Amino acid sequence: MTTAAAYALTTPDGRFEKTSIERRDLGPHDVLIDIKYAGICHSDIHTARNEWHRTRYPCVPGHEIAGIVAAVGSAVTKHRVGDRVGVGCMVDSCGKCASCLAGEEQYCTGGGTMTYNTGVTEEFQPGGTTYGGYSTQVVVTENFVLAIPEGIGLDVAAPLLCAGITLYSPLRHWNAGPGKQVAIIGMGGLGHVGVKIAAALGAEVTVLSQSLSKQEDGRRFGAQHYYATSDRQTFKDLRARFDLIVNTVSANLPIDDYMRLLNLDGTLVILGLPDKPLSVQPFTLANFRRSLAGSMIGGIAQTQEMLNFCAEHGIGADIEVISADGIDAAYERVLASDVRYRFVIDAATM
Ligand code: NAP
Ligand code: ZN
Ligand code: ZN
Repeated sequence: MTTAAAYALTTPDGRFEKTSIERRDLGPHDVLIDIKYAGICHSDIHTARNEWHRTRYPCVPGHEIAGIVAAVGSAVTKHRVGDRVGVGCMVDSCGKCASCLAGEEQYCTGGGTMTYNTGVTEEFQPGGTTYGGYSTQVVVTENFVLAIPEGIGLDVAAPLLCAGITLYSPLRHWNAGPGKQVAIIGMGGLGHVGVKIAAALGAEVTVLSQSLSKQEDGRRFGAQHYYATSDRQTFKDLRARFDLIVNTVSANLPIDDYMRLLNLDGTLVILGLPDKPLSVQPFTLANFRRSLAGSMIGGIAQTQEMLNFCAEHGIGADIEVISADGIDAAYERVLASDVRYRFVIDAATM
């Protein structure tokens, strides 16, 4: 087994503390990764603070992992020692259910394994719970290890492993592209990558942010339009405007107001995951034949496609690199919407 340094929380209202964890011995298909960078996703905060009511402590979050292959099992063919690689939200799935066979492992019905906070055997992860990327090393089966193309720095690539694929997948599924009016609600970690990807796909992009304070950044990321949702006039001006609206907000929104901004056959996709129900008027949905949908990360093959697309288009996250002792402070800034636009932990500081 390999001993790795990690940062863990032991209670929902505690602070991160340095600890050490074991990683399993390499099986034939396993890859040992020296983690270089780990992004801080808002899902880490929901989980660390038990906002989804299913957190197993100690909790080592982190599912935006970028690093270098340190060793490979005897039968590994996809990755070699020294390769630049990434790991996202999943580290295993059943491989047999209809979702897995369709390359949509994130919807595995046979018991998928998330990168952290999933109950597993002691052989899979000593301790019986998966531990994520706030750590110096991780062991992952080769099929769940992505290649990070040359041309994207590991630091700016790390957030693509969750934020990137979470936006790329619905943007592709609902055909964001030339001639399409796309709005992104919330310009945080997910949202800012979404603006970049939607613009690179050729869509006309509008940001719907709480204020206009990040307008210049939004335009730099590729948005043509930028509106403040604190201004009621926004909801009048943009009525029936969009083909696709992607909601990345981590808090509850009056979703009916946003549904009314959809044009004929438009879809509003929920990505943000607050633990509260949404409310929509039947009339709002029926009018303009609108749809309300959701989407969860993306499959492994599509994650690789997204990384290649981002490398081709020069897309990485805008990041602020922090040391491991700054995780608690970074969480507070994310909660205050004071993130520009993703905190990334430098694993060398662990
Ligand atoms: P983030 O960096 O905190 O960004 C969220 C943004 O939402 C903020 O920057 C802010 O944007 C806006 N916002 C926050 N509070 C708000 C409020 N009370 N009212 C209106 N707008 C508000 O978070 P993230 O990492 O992008 O994650 C966003 C959400 O997506 C989280 O709930 C996370 O768990 C979820 N998520 C889902 C998936 C999936 O697969 N579906 C994957 C990853 C994350 P402005 O400042 O521009 O208003
Ligand atoms: Zn995430
Ligand atoms: Zn499956």
